[in-house]
Amino acid sequence: MKTLPGKELAAAVRAQTQAEAAAGPQPRLAVVVATADEASLWYVRSIAKAAAGVGIACDLVDLGPGAAPDRIGETLARLSADPNVHGVMMQTPLPAGASAQELAGAIDPRKDVDGANPLSLGRLAAGLPAFPPATAAAVMALLDHYEVELEGRRAVVAGRSTVVGKPLAHLLLDRNATVTVCHSRTRDLASVTSTAEVLVAAVGRAGLIGAAHVAPGAVVIDVGTNPTEDGGLTGDIASGEVAAVAGALTPVPGGVGPVTTALLLRHTARAANLP
Ligand code: NAD
Repeated sequence: MKTLPGKELAAAVRAQTQAEAAAGPQPRLAVVVATADEASLWYVRSIAKAAAGVGIACDLVDLGPGAAPDRIGETLARLSADPNVHGVMMQTPLPAGASAQELAGAIDPRKDVDGANPLSLGRLAAGLPAFPPATAAAVMALLDHYEVELEGRRAVVAGRSTVVGKPLAHLLLDRNATVTVCHSRTRDLASVTSTAEVLVAAVGRAGLIGAAHVAPGAVVIDVGTNPTEDGGLTGDIASGEVAAVAGALTPVPGGVGPVTTALLLRHTARAANLP
């Protein structure tokens, strides 16, 4: 079985993004945070560090875990209207009572570098230019990087969230894959996932996908990031047993994750250069 790491691709995307960022006015990304969740705060700090590395300015706008939904929405609208800000991202989780999908409507689609505004998803579904969520884009970038053929092939996506599963299904359809989406109510998950030539797991349950869920030779992309007791991360794929069946598998960590951050920055550089 072949392992499909994301680090080399992420480095290539960052190098290209650095060149794009240097070609015009400095791109600026604003990340709105309203949580005390350590993993989320670690993630936004890692975005800021990666941004600095490619010449993109990054403002962390921390509203605190008690921020009212109105304040979050107003902040997103203010940043969207600021000509010096090119990309606007809202980190989840949000405070109780705040709807990410409602609030993301306040992000200008032209600055919606993590594809959170429902308008971006609608445009994606209609085949119109839009920024896809960086994670969904990262899955496609990895498949392309490793030259995985999609046209006419059976692709199964496990997970139907607005941030990963749904946009990814549209991106795969757009590439002429035959796409099936599974979710928490799918009966006999293994009977569906084992038909996949390309299988993407974006569920958030450690080791959910075992050898019985995977067709021999399938290309398997693991989006899941589940915390382990020792402070590490593990994916949705039971990699030990799946390795004996799959043709190729992305590692966790070091697969989809690094490409996601790199693409978020690429989207920001592109947003800064939109006519
Ligand atoms: P989510 O909780 O919003 O959605 C989970 C989806 O899984 C739902 O659509 C649900 O129907 C489905 N599901 C639940 N149980 C299932 C089951 N038994 N069988 C099939 N489907 C089932 O999660 P999300 O935000 O889409 O994230 C999914 C995973 O991807 C998480 O582990 C998250 O941490 C990870 N993630 C990783 C990155 C990255 O850059 N690597 C980015 C975003 C999310």
